[in-house]
Amino acid sequence: MKFGGTSVADADKIRNVARRIAGARESGDNVVAVVSARGKTTDQLVAAAREISERPDPREMDMLLSTGERISCALMAMALHDLGHGAESFTGSQAGILTDTAHTRAKILDIKADRLRAALDAGSIVLVAGFQGVSTDRNVTTLGRGGSDTTAVALAAALDADVCEIYTDVTGVFTADPRIEPGARKLPLLTHEEMLEMAASGSRVLALRSVEFARNHGVELHVRSSFREEEGTIITQETTAMEKAIVSGIAHRSDEAKITVSGVRDQPGVAAEIMTALADSGINVDTIIQNVSADGVTDLSMTVPLDDLQGALGAIDQLAGQLDYQGVSADDQIGKVTLVGAGMKSNPGIAAKMFRTLAAEGINIQMIDTSTIRITVVIDRREIERAVRALHDAFDLASEAARRADV
Ligand code: ASP
Ligand code: MG
Repeated sequence: MKFGGTSVADADKIRNVARRIAGARESGDNVVAVVSARGKTTDQLVAAAREISERPDPREMDMLLSTGERISCALMAMALHDLGHGAESFTGSQAGILTDTAHTRAKILDIKADRLRAALDAGSIVLVAGFQGVSTDRNVTTLGRGGSDTTAVALAAALDADVCEIYTDVTGVFTADPRIEPGARKLPLLTHEEMLEMAASGSRVLALRSVEFARNHGVELHVRSSFREEEGTIITQETTAMEKAIVSGIAHRSDEAKITVSGVRDQPGVAAEIMTALADSGINVDTIIQNVSADGVTDLSMTVPLDDLQGALGAIDQLAGQLDYQGVSADDQIGKVTLVGAGMKSNPGIAAKMFRTLAAEGINIQMIDTSTIRITVVIDRREIERAVRALHDAFDLASEAARRADV
């Protein structure tokens, strides 16, 4: 069971979560619960570091940020004790979560779960501080923002849990963001692949890496509400018996920017050089499109996180000496809207319908990017909400989700 920051924000909420955990234990299950830092704690810790230093040392950032989860965990153990349960809290390090040495964005390498197993065998409820571990060189590490989801999934895999329940402030994964589309409905079931595309395309319900981990290790996820008893969204491996929705949901993001490098020579190595420069600056490039070339030159467009725009432009600027190009332009007013559905693979006409819908709204498409189960368009940021609503309507996602919930 994993509980996010809003679910443990104050004393009443901690007691509420403790009752939830106790209920699961009383029904006969062994329970490992992972908790996030309370409310805005992690943001406040980041701000505290910035107040002291402009470039805080990453090792010390991890020492600092890992405390937020540790607080939640200890408080939860106390609340469980008051309910008459044996409970023990553990830091990531004590839980045997071994990571690489990349401070503030470490990756889990292995989990030595014997200490947790012993505590479970002794009848305790086990509480683990989310989003942290210990590196191969024995320093405390954190897994990157939102990393508690990954802790939970990794522990579920290591302990061979029946299910990994992610408790949060929404009741599940929706067909679209309900703040934009009031008719959005909760999806009863999604495949790992669909959730991966949703998370990568802007759905904030689960951290992308946790979904990757769940897919790679076959961990079934259940995203559900901390505050209400109802069933949430099950995320599982695709089976042949599963009825695949052509379109399951719509995700969007408005925190990206577009860069176009125009007039680059159309010859081997040019794209490699640009992408290497961006990678060396630690910039994650998302959509990349190269035009058909004319007269031996071509244009290369890409999207990057909005926060990385200046860094990316700087890196490309550095190339000006060695790479000859005509110009660089940037657009920080873009957004992306994505349709996701496992049934897209075998159904023609989805892209046509998507583009017709956007055309009818007078929305211009700047870039298009697809995978077998996803279609993404880059459009003007101000048109995202309209696009989401029009597509939700055109693909009739509300009744489709309702129909699937009844099956
Ligand atoms: N507390 C960390 C964060 O806010 C990790 C998490 O919540 O999953 O990013
Ligand atoms: Mg959080």
